[in-house]
Amino acid sequence: DQMQGPSGSEEKIYVSVRLRPLNDKESLRNAVPDWECINDATIIYRSHLSISERSMYPSAYSFDRVFGPECCTRQVYDQGAKEVAFSVVSGVNASVFAYGQTSSGKTYTMTGITDCALVDIYDYIDKHKEREFILKFSAMEIYNESVRDLLSTDSSPLRLLDDPEKGTVVEKLTEETLRDWNHFKDLLSVCVAQRQIGETALNEVSSRSHQILRLTVESTARDFFTNDKFSTLTATVNFIDLAGSERASQSLSAGTRLKEGCHINRSLLTLGTVIRKLSKGKTGHIPFRDSKLTRILQSSLGGNARTAIICTMSPARIHVEQSRNTLLFASCAK
Ligand code: ADP
Ligand code: MG
Repeated sequence: DQMQGPSGSEEKIYVSVRLRPLNDKESLRNAVPDWECINDATIIYRSHLSISERSMYPSAYSFDRVFGPECCTRQVYDQGAKEVAFSVVSGVNASVFAYGQTSSGKTYTMTGITDCALVDIYDYIDKHKEREFILKFSAMEIYNESVRDLLSTDSSPLRLLDDPEKGTVVEKLTEETLRDWNHFKDLLSVCVAQRQIGETALNEVSSRSHQILRLTVESTARDFFTNDKFSTLTATVNFIDLAGSERASQSLSAGTRLKEGCHINRSLLTLGTVIRKLSKGKTGHIPFRDSKLTRILQSSLGGNARTAIICTMSPARIHVEQSRNTLLFASCAK
């Protein structure tokens, strides 16, 4: 059902693909997009394939949902992420990822999705006065397997600790209790500024780093007569803007970038392995501890947690190899 969105998929990772419009530069190179969403679930490569290519690559790929260039972020959120993100208000942890090569639309998509989620959660809180809600927000960046607080001007790396009850905890990570929507927007601009500080010091940080925005929702019901608090629910939803997926395939690039490539590789590759295992319902060893990203997200991946992945791609011919890699990742995750 096209309007259903990611519901009824408790054990399954909800995988969608968002094809962005051609940008001006790409339009100059070739006037027509190479990829097309032919219905709500299928994307095809529409350029002519040679006979040898035809045997190497599928030309049609199907997912839970595909979004063409005409789809706005609200639609992507409603049909690709909302159900998963909203589980947080009923005490279920969740993760929403944007995966794709650099310039494919990850940040554009994830920024919009985080906004939509917060708008809807505030709306939900307004309509559920019978519960008392507390929202807490934190933000971090993983670069070179080093974790940095995006709400603090102190850029020293944060340690991960193992808490017997909470699992992996990021030591000293700032957590702000949200007063309202404006406070949330203010904190977001702090994150953007913090991320840009890295950007000028080290070229192209955003294509190599993972950004995690994390919202914890606590809610408590009150007895109407006695005003006693009871049934507190707490859960966390993570919005993850991943490093460019091309970083996973360029690990062998020579020179000083090798280290960075390897580390990015480690978090992205480990995430890929973890997601593949989870999507196949594997119950044996899942290598959460092999990277910072998967350690931090462990309690929000697998188990009861809900996961949605939005794979972003460019429709341009010059990006066809990366687009195929992205669709391959998406196919393995569903
Ligand atoms: P990434 O984070 O994957 O590197 P961005 O989100 O920064 O990519 O997107 C690259 C550029 O394309 C940005 O200028 C962005 O505004 C634009 N863009 C991305 N997706 C869309 C879309 N669906 N519609 C319109 N513009 C988009
Ligand atoms: Mg980006």
